[in-house]
Amino acid sequence: MNVILKPHTTLEEIKWVEGRLRELGVDVHVSVGKERAILGLVGETACLDDKKIAAWPHVERVIRIQEPFKRVHRLSHPEDRIIQVGDQQIGGKNITIMAGPCSVESHDQLFTIAKHVKQHGAHLLRGGAYKPRTSPYSFSGLKEEGLQLLAEAREEVGLPVVTEVTTPELVPIVSQYADVLQIGARNMQNYGLLQAVGKVDKPVLLKRGLSATIEELLLAAEYIVAEGNEKVILCERGIRTFETATRNTLDLSAVPVIKRYTSLPVIIDPSHAAGKRDLVIPLVRAAIAVGADGIIVEVHHHPEEAWSDGAQSLTLPMFDQMMEEAERVAQAVGRTLHATSMVR
Ligand code: PEP
Ligand code: MN
Repeated sequence: MNVILKPHTTLEEIKWVEGRLRELGVDVHVSVGKERAILGLVGETACLDDKKIAAWPHVERVIRIQEPFKRVHRLSHPEDRIIQVGDQQIGGKNITIMAGPCSVESHDQLFTIAKHVKQHGAHLLRGGAYKPRTSPYSFSGLKEEGLQLLAEAREEVGLPVVTEVTTPELVPIVSQYADVLQIGARNMQNYGLLQAVGKVDKPVLLKRGLSATIEELLLAAEYIVAEGNEKVILCERGIRTFETATRNTLDLSAVPVIKRYTSLPVIIDPSHAAGKRDLVIPLVRAAIAVGADGIIVEVHHHPEEAWSDGAQSLTLPMFDQMMEEAERVAQAVGRTLHATSMVR
């Protein structure tokens, strides 16, 4: 249930309405937009009298949200949310490019890739230090050493870092090094982990689970927001279908569907969707055309030698090509990649 206040109510007036609602025994979440404030009520709202509350001073109307994800619902925050990471604003008109290797392997590997993607217009550096692998015998990341290398790359190259956190226990150490905490597809329904990142003041990149519905993804985001962290970026990275020509099936329609339900930014990971590097650039074009707020893409200077996901990693020249094409599509749909900083 949401209580929409009249335009331009003062902080005092908002507090007054919030106080009266709390007296009714519900939890109140205040969202102050450019024009008006919205008070989201969570808890036992069934017995509240909508008509009576709608008649209170400063209240414009009362609406009930049918969907189970209340806090991330667009009705709780109608304006598109913009998430600040370093100099970059994720969401709004911006297209944000996050690029880097699947796994951090070494200083040389990370710095070569980081310098290249920065020079060619990337906004964030991606790289896994804790890798959830399908096989327990596969390389599982450099762990804290990987985090240290990412932090060094941020200082030297000037790109904020997004990296995965795989367990609640690791949240403090990963938060110490990372600018954005990534929740991987396999952990989308790890509720303890979602609650742990919900308590941290860092943006979270939440990937859609391999077999998760859009509603389940939004409920996973709700877990994070319910703990107080509203800085959630959603990521469509392909879902499991009967199709075997690609690693996963990129659900492009998820972007406009998610945007209908929430004002959180939505990005696309074409690498894990396709599983093959020659499919990545066409999917990037489609992602931007369909309204995604950004791309997270795997890049490697020697993909054939990569310790993980080499087959889907773009070569450095392919990344440059991707950026050029992304910029053209972005312009065509009225978005911006801040291409002025790109090297040609
Ligand atoms: C990754 O980004 O390297 C990764 C493991 O992605 P996902 O969780 O989408 O499989
Ligand atoms: Mn990967």
